[in-house]
Amino acid sequence: MDVEAIYKEAGALLEGHFILSSGNHSDRYLQSAKVLEDPKRAEMLATELARHIRQSGLEVETVCAPALGGVLAGYELARALGVCSIFVERKEGRMQLRRGFEIHPGEKVLVCEDIITTGGSAMEAAEIVESLGGEVVGFAALANRGFCARSGSGKKPKAKCKLPADKPFFALADFEFAMYAPEECPLCKAGSEAVKPGSRGN
Ligand code: ZN
Repeated sequence: MDVEAIYKEAGALLEGHFILSSGNHSDRYLQSAKVLEDPKRAEMLATELARHIRQSGLEVETVCAPALGGVLAGYELARALGVCSIFVERKEGRMQLRRGFEIHPGEKVLVCEDIITTGGSAMEAAEIVESLGGEVVGFAALANRGFCARSGSGKKPKAKCKLPADKPFFALADFEFAMYAPEECPLCKAGSEAVKPGSRGN
């Protein structure tokens, strides 16, 4: 599966000159929610991710996603795996399991995101699952931003990766972009102006 082509076709992978949330500049930008805009595309990606997870032999009873970004990906992955889908959400600054969702002791939970950057939100979700007696069996995301190492990629996680090394991390592709401090940005030096992707047209 050419994941990058699918993201481009969906308008989820932009090319140009962008200001990232970190303040750095890049020639590419991921607008992760866009790839899930078409349910058929979301289903196709989740089915492929589920295939990787099944192949590994990992036993999963429930998929848990951190809201808001992870919910659609988690739901589609749960559907593809034939398991239940729950989510945690931020309330008064901390992640919580609400809405009557429950985790039983020893429940095998896979934490799923649309995209894993450093894995911070995924780890917050994992901590809640474990505090409620569940067992976090692994992590999954449609896209990996390149800080963490997905299982089978042969790469090493970078220092910023917060996911534990002893649990599998499944993702469809690595999206590793060149990032530049504004004063060192070659695109700026070439005379183009950086834009904030979200600020155009909305
Ligand atoms: Zn620039």
